[in-house]
Amino acid sequence: AKKAGRNSFRFFDPDMQAAVEARAEIERGLAQALALRQFQVYLQPQVDSSGMVVGAEALVRWRHPARGLVPPNEFIPLAEESGQVVAIGAWVLETACACLKRWESDLRKCHLDLAVNVSARQFRHPGFVQQVIATVTASGIDPGRLKLELTETLLHDDIDETAQRMHALRALGVHFSMDDFGTGYSSLSNLKKLPLDQLKVDKSFVADIAADPDDLVLVQTIIAMAYNLGMQVIAEGVETEEQRELLLRRGCSHFQGYLFGKPMPIEEFEDLPELRPLA
Ligand code: C2E
Ligand code: CA
Ligand code: CA
Ligand code: CA
Repeated sequence: AKKAGRNSFRFFDPDMQAAVEARAEIERGLAQALALRQFQVYLQPQVDSSGMVVGAEALVRWRHPARGLVPPNEFIPLAEESGQVVAIGAWVLETACACLKRWESDLRKCHLDLAVNVSARQFRHPGFVQQVIATVTASGIDPGRLKLELTETLLHDDIDETAQRMHALRALGVHFSMDDFGTGYSSLSNLKKLPLDQLKVDKSFVADIAADPDDLVLVQTIIAMAYNLGMQVIAEGVETEEQRELLLRRGCSHFQGYLFGKPMPIEEFEDLPELRPLA
């Protein structure tokens, strides 16, 4: 049979053509987005059991000239595939370290921790450990204020390499959280090989705890396991007082979700009433 040309499907499947072109456009746009300063870091508050803001998670957004504010789910997966997530992640980390540096000299903010998402592709990049060390060192921050959020994919393969990299950064003082816990196929035996400080209960569990007794049992089990392994637990996606209560009663110590605050521009976070400098 005649070998199909690269673009031959165009004549047969306009939907697929449109999807492929939209994707290609996003990829081209992504390549220039950093240089054009189109990314923006949003911060979402994290609170303790008393409701006090103890930190934030950095969540990237793409301010696209034509498409408006593009959520990360629409470009991070593509950036993972293309490798651009390495440069984007490096920029997010620099931005986060600049925040921590600013907060250090502010009495109302110097206690805040900042969590930064690290994709698997970024974590496995050969230069990752050196890049984090260089950024943290250059910024002059206390590395103990920085928390890297990793995903469960890192528990499957190359666990020794993962542990080695984490220990290298742990030696600097950086903390680690296991993001979206319970959604991947975690190898529980591998969990204890890593220097983790925190488990983050995925919002899909939190969403149903009030209605689904099975999810409540799961969350309860995750919390117990985390404490037995010496880790702190934070629940994400907490939207209602009822969810907060249920989690709190089962020993969850930290919370994040719309109930406490949506992700917001950095300036807005820094201007939260409870973080505002005393006049
Ligand atoms: P994630 O790390 O699990 O982040 C939590 C997501 O839940 C965020 O979506 C946040 O806005 C959303 N969220 C927070 N509170 C609530 C709530 O109460 N209810 C509901 N329904 N959702 C809530 P967002 O900002 O759209 O980010 C989506 C994902 O994109 C993140 O999921 C993370 O995996 C990825 N991402 C975001 N920023 C970065 C980044 O700088 N680097 C990398 N590698 N990935 C990032
Ligand atoms: Ca996260
Ligand atoms: Ca998460
Ligand atoms: Ca999640």
